[in-house]
Amino acid sequence: QGSRDEAIRQQSPDLVITVKTTRGNHKTRVRQIVRSWFQLDPKNVYFVSDVTDTGLNATLGGNLINSHCPVGHSATALACKMNRELRVFVERDAKWSCHFDDDNYVNVPLLKELLLSMDETKAYYLGKASTAEPVSIPDRPMPPFWFGTGGAGVCLSQFAVRKAAPKIMNNGFRNLAARLGLPDDMALGFLMANLLDIELTQISSFYSHFDELNLIPIHELPNQHVLSAYTHPKQDNLVALPYLFAQQDDPFKFRSLHCFIFGQGCPPNAKKVF
Ligand code: UDP
Ligand code: MN
Repeated sequence: QGSRDEAIRQQSPDLVITVKTTRGNHKTRVRQIVRSWFQLDPKNVYFVSDVTDTGLNATLGGNLINSHCPVGHSATALACKMNRELRVFVERDAKWSCHFDDDNYVNVPLLKELLLSMDETKAYYLGKASTAEPVSIPDRPMPPFWFGTGGAGVCLSQFAVRKAAPKIMNNGFRNLAARLGLPDDMALGFLMANLLDIELTQISSFYSHFDELNLIPIHELPNQHVLSAYTHPKQDNLVALPYLFAQQDDPFKFRSLHCFIFGQGCPPNAKKVF
C-alpha cells in the first residue's frame, strides 16, 4: 500500500499550466509562445481554445484542447473556457496549477521554484489584484473579496483545486459566473474567497497590462515570474528590452525575452546587443 501511494504521488506533476486562447490567436500569439516559453515544459502546458486545429495540436504534442465554448470575448465565453482550464487542473491533480492568457510570458523554472517553496497541501490562491480595494457585488450582501487579474495569471495549490473540484466539475464554474454575472477572474476570486475561504495571496511579480512593463529594469527581467504584452498602433505596453528580431517576427518580444533570459532561440547577432 505504501509503495502504491508513493507511485500515485509521483504521478502528480509539480506544475500544470493552461493558457486561454482562441482560434484567431493560433497563428499569432500561440506561435510566439511556442517559439519561446512553451519549450521550457512542453508536456505540462495546455492551450484551451474554441476550435480543433490538428496542425497546432501536433506542434503542441497533443496539448491543444477544444473547449467547444463560444468564440468571443463575452463573459460567458470566457467563463466557459476558464471552466475547461479548471477541469484540467482537477484532472491532472498537479501540486500546482496555473492559468495564463496567451499574451503572458511565463518564466516556468522561476515560477516552479516559487511554487515548490510553498506547501501545496495547504489551500493557496495566488495572483495579482488590479483593484485598489477588494470588490463587492452591488445589491448582494456579501463580504468584499480580492481577485487575481486573469491577465496576470493565477495559480492554485493542489489542496485548493481539490477543495474547489465539486464547484468546478459539471460546468459548476461557468454556472456560478453566470449566476453572479461576473467575468471569469472575478468569479474565481468569489469562489475562492467567499465560498471556500481561500484568500488571494498577492504575487507582485505577476505583471498584467495594468502594470507599466517598460519600468522594469532590463537586468531585473529574469527575476519576474510573469510578464505580459500589449501592442496597439497608438500605445504599446512591452518590456524595455530591445527587439532582437525584426519587430514583425517578435511583436511581443517573447522571443527576445527568451533569448535574453535563457539563451535559447537567439538570433546570430544577439551577443552584440547585450
Ligand atoms: N480570448 C478568448 N476569446 C476571445 C478573445 C480573447 O478566449 O474571443 C482570450 C485571449 O486568448 C486571452 C484572453 O482571452 O487569453 C484575454 O484576451 P485579450 O488579451 O485579447 O484581451 P484583454 O482582456 O487583455 O484586453
Ligand atoms: Mn490581454
